[in-house]
Amino acid sequence: MPEGRIVKALSGFYYVQVMDDIYQCKGRGVFRKRNITPLVGDFVSFDVREGNEGYITEIEPRTNELIRPPIANITQAIIVSSAVMPDFSTTLLDRFLVLIEAKGIEPVIFITKTDLLTDEQQHEMIKYQKDYEAIGYRIELFSAKEPTDIERIKRYMNDHVTVIAGQSGVGKSTLINSLRPESTLKTGDISKSLGRGKHTTRHVELFEINNGLVADTPGFSALDFEEIEAEELSACFPELRERQDLCKFRGCLHDKEPKCAVKESVEKEEIPSYRYEHYLNFLEEIQTRKPRY
Ligand code: GDP
Ligand code: ZN
Repeated sequence: MPEGRIVKALSGFYYVQVMDDIYQCKGRGVFRKRNITPLVGDFVSFDVREGNEGYITEIEPRTNELIRPPIANITQAIIVSSAVMPDFSTTLLDRFLVLIEAKGIEPVIFITKTDLLTDEQQHEMIKYQKDYEAIGYRIELFSAKEPTDIERIKRYMNDHVTVIAGQSGVGKSTLINSLRPESTLKTGDISKSLGRGKHTTRHVELFEINNGLVADTPGFSALDFEEIEAEELSACFPELRERQDLCKFRGCLHDKEPKCAVKESVEKEEIPSYRYEHYLNFLEEIQTRKPRY
């Protein structure tokens, strides 16, 4: 029985890729009974009927799954933030980082629109870049208008199944389109002229780029911490996670507790104070379960 990966879902059909071949498959009724639906990104077995048509018979266990966009087995999420228009926000970036860390997905930070920066703003962005690099994150500053920049960032896709995340207007569609080999669409401009939202895509598709797969629809649009418990939050901050065992109290929330290694590191400026402030804000948000934005 052939095996492959679902790379596209459209109108009740699943498109399963096996090497260079694509099979158009239907899901078996048995999945409905078991209450599972095949997802883009799933590894599946299928029965071939005629030519390149078939029926999915088995779904391999997933390492993870997203609801928006509905994709399984993601290995990496790229958070797109713009340096300006809209202004760069470490609060928003940290919010995305926490949500992605909580899912057990590896984050990468892309800061776009650097072509619009003044020298002074450029310096400020490089300072942030160093902060996040010191934490251990991979972070790139670039302009989507610069073809050499696009060539450089393609290497991040290698061997990964990538979902792009980020707030509206930061340049996600522009990035996806510049990575998509066959596409010539300039999404931002077109959606403006049509006067409607940009994410009108009804299907989900993974496209191949640089020996990896990228989702054509951005994800992580719900920015609340509904699924994260207070005790789990510090594990979503790598620089807090690595100090957890140094705190006096097991299960230290790095808030009011004495002899807290995290607070000591913030005082010594080994941890950026804004990161710690965001941690405390998010903690309070979780403890009161009232969104702050
Ligand atoms: P999305 O909402 O995140 O998908 O954002 P879009 O991709 O639609 O981009 C929003 C606007 O920013 C569009 O007008 C793009 O042309 C523009 N844009 C995207 N990336 C860059 C960039 O690197 N430099 C500049 N100057 N503009 C950009
Ligand atoms: Zn502590």
